[in-house]
Amino acid sequence: MAAPLILDDPVDRITGIGDRQKDKLAKLNIRSVRDFIFHFPRRYDDFSEIVPIRSLRSGAQQTVKGTLWHVEQSNSRGGLRMLKATVVDPTGVLHLVWFNQPYLKDQLKEGTDLLVSGKVEVFRGVLSFNNPSFEPVPKADTDDTSKPAGAGSLHVGRIIPIYAETEGVTSKWLRTKIRTALDHTLNLVEERQPAELLARQKLLGIREALEQVHFPGNQKQLARARERLGFDELFFWQLRALLRKSEWKSSRKAVPMTIQTEALKTFRAALPFDLTECQRRSIREILEDIRSPSPMSRLLEGDVGSGKTVVAAAGLLNAAAQGAQSALMAPTEILAEQHYRSLVSLLKKHKLSIALLTGSRALLSGRDGEDISRPDLLKIIKSGEVNIVVGTHALIQDDVVYQSLALVVIDEQHRFGVEQRKALMRKGAAPDVLVMTATPIPRSLALALFGDLELSILDEMPKGRKPILTEVVYASNRTRVHEFVKKQLDSGRQAFVICPLVEESEVLEVKAATEEHELLQQGAFKNYRLGLLHGRMKSKDKDAVIQAFRAGEYQMLVSTSVVEVGVDIPNASVMLIEGAERFGLAQLHQFRGRVGRGAEQSYCFLFATTTAPESEQRLRAMVRCQDGFQLSEEDLKLRGPGEVFGTRQSGIPDLRMASLLDAQLIKRVREEAELWVGHPSFEMYFGAAVASGTGDSLVWN
Ligand code: ADP
Ligand code: MG
Repeated sequence: MAAPLILDDPVDRITGIGDRQKDKLAKLNIRSVRDFIFHFPRRYDDFSEIVPIRSLRSGAQQTVKGTLWHVEQSNSRGGLRMLKATVVDPTGVLHLVWFNQPYLKDQLKEGTDLLVSGKVEVFRGVLSFNNPSFEPVPKADTDDTSKPAGAGSLHVGRIIPIYAETEGVTSKWLRTKIRTALDHTLNLVEERQPAELLARQKLLGIREALEQVHFPGNQKQLARARERLGFDELFFWQLRALLRKSEWKSSRKAVPMTIQTEALKTFRAALPFDLTECQRRSIREILEDIRSPSPMSRLLEGDVGSGKTVVAAAGLLNAAAQGAQSALMAPTEILAEQHYRSLVSLLKKHKLSIALLTGSRALLSGRDGEDISRPDLLKIIKSGEVNIVVGTHALIQDDVVYQSLALVVIDEQHRFGVEQRKALMRKGAAPDVLVMTATPIPRSLALALFGDLELSILDEMPKGRKPILTEVVYASNRTRVHEFVKKQLDSGRQAFVICPLVEESEVLEVKAATEEHELLQQGAFKNYRLGLLHGRMKSKDKDAVIQAFRAGEYQMLVSTSVVEVGVDIPNASVMLIEGAERFGLAQLHQFRGRVGRGAEQSYCFLFATTTAPESEQRLRAMVRCQDGFQLSEEDLKLRGPGEVFGTRQSGIPDLRMASLLDAQLIKRVREEAELWVGHPSFEMYFGAAVASGTGDSLVWN
C-alpha cells in the first residue's frame, strides 16, 4: 500500500495529477502538496443561495436546484455545436445552453436532480443560462434537509473559489484536486501561531482558515479565513523587519556622534528661508538618532519640493563638524551633481571639503569646479580630508575607501537595489543611515513596508508655494496650449516637455524625444531656443544641457523621463507631459514637482492620446489634487503597490491575502509583532519561520 500523502510530497502524488499537470502547476509555482493547498483563490463567485426558478433576476449570477428534463444536441447554422437542456423546479422552467462542449452530454442524465449556477438571461420571457456550471445534488444534501442545499458540493450552489489559472488547469479542476489534497493533509498542517496570539487577535486556526478559504461555508467565514491568512503574511514580514531593526540597533557604532549646536545655529541662520515646522521636527528626530549610541535607520518621506535636502544637509553638517565622514548617494548623475551644488552652497560658511564622485566626474569643492583625477580624489577620501562625498553608485565601487564613514544618506531609495544600499552601509563600521523618498505614502503603508525604519514625514510644503494649475489636454487643444506656452516663454519663463514613456526600450524613448525636439523646434516653437536631454547622452553633455537650461540659454527643454527626479530650476514654470496616460500618478506628480518652485504661477499640461475611462480618471485626479500623499494613495488603489514601486526592486512583499492598504490590519499586526520581539519564547515559536522566510526589506535584508 502506498504511504499516506504528506505536505512535502510532490504535487503529482495527489490522485489524478499526472506529469502533464505537474508541469503546468509548476508554472504557478506549485511543486509540493503544501504549495498546492496554499494556492489561494483569487476571487469568489457567490452561488450560495439557491433561488426558485420563478425568482431568477435577469443579469444576476444565481443558482437553481431542479430536475433535468430533455437533453438534446444540435448544430447551429454557424457551425456551433450546441447542447441544450431544460431544468424544472416546482416554480418554473429554465433553459440551459452549452456551446462546443458536446462531451458534457454524458454527464447530463435526464431525470436526475442538479444544482446549476450561471448568469440569468431573459429573452422574450424565456429564462436561460449560457454555459452554466452544474453538479448532481450531493447525496448528503438530498437526505438531510437541515443543511443548506449545496453544502457538500464543490462547484455550484455555494461560494465558488476562482483560482489563478494557467492553460490546461482550470478552476474547476483545481477545486476537485485541492479538495482531495485537503481531505488527506489538512490535519497535518501545523499551527505556527501561538495559542495566546490567536486568542488575543481572535483569529481562526490555520486548518480551519485553509478549509474556509478554499471552500467557504458563507461570506462571514470566508472573511475570517482571509483575515487569518492575511494576518500571517504581514506578521512574519513585520517580525523579520523588527528583528533586523533590533539587530541593527544593537550593533555597536564605530563613531559616536554628538550634536554640534554651534555649527547648526550658523547653518540655520544662513538659510535664505525659515524651515517649516516639519523640517525642524525631522532634523530634531535625526539628531536624536545620531546622538543615541545605536545606529540610526530612518526614512525621510516627503513630497517633491518639500525640502528634504536641507534636512539631510543638517545631518551631514553635524557629522562633518566633528570630523566624521559622510556620504550621500543619488540615483542619477544629474541628481548627484545637483545635491553636490546645493550642499556646497548651503554649507559654504563652514569651510568643509565636499566631493562629487560619479561615473564620469570627480570634483572637490573650493577648486573652481575643475575636475580632479579619480585616483587623486580616492586618495583624499581615504585620508579623511573630505568631509562629505556626494555621488552615484560610483560611491560603492571597491576601490572607494572611506576613512570613517559615520553617516550614509540615500536619496530616492527605491531606485537602488538592496545590494547597493547595503554595499554603501558596509563602507563604514555601523554608520547612521538616512534614506529619503519622494514617493509619499500613507504612514500605515510605510510601516508595513519599511518596518525596520523609523519614519520622519515632511507633510507640509514650504510657505508661498502656489498650486500648479493643471489641465488635461486632448489633441484638438494642442495649438491653444502651445500659444499659451509661447506667451510664458516670451515673458521670460522656461518650460519642460516630457516625452512619452517607452516601456523596455530606451532607444525608442530617445528616438521619440529627438523627434519631438525636431518637430517643436521646426514647427510651433521655431523662434525659440530648445534643448534636448535624454538618457543616452554622455554625462558631460547632459550636464552641459542642464547648465545651459539653468542659465536660461534654452527656453524649453525637451526630455525623456530622466528629469523625473530632482532637477531644480526655479525659473521653469511650465510642464508639458506627452502621453501622460502612460505614467502613474506618483510619477506625473514628480514631473509636475519640477515646476512651481519659484514665485511665479506655474502650469502643468497633461497631453493625453486616449480617452479611456481609467486613464481619464487618473488624469482627473492630477487636476483635482496637488497633494502627493493623496495622489500616491489613489495610485496605490488604482494600480497596486507592486506597480507603483516595482515589486522586485523595492522589496514589496508579494501578498496574496492581505492588502497593504488595510491600515487597520497593519496596525494590529505591527502591535502584535512588537510584543514578540525579545519575548522569551520567540525562538521557540518563530525561530524557524523567521529564518526561512524572505520578508526582504529596503535596507537590511
Ligand atoms: P525635495 O524634497 O523635492 O528634495 P528640495 O530639497 O530640492 O526638495 O527643495 C526644493 C526647493 O525648496 C529648494 O529650492 C529649496 O531651497 C527650497 N526650500 C527648502 N525648504 C524650504 C523652506 N522651508 N522654505 C522655502 N523654501 C524651501
Ligand atoms: Mg530631492
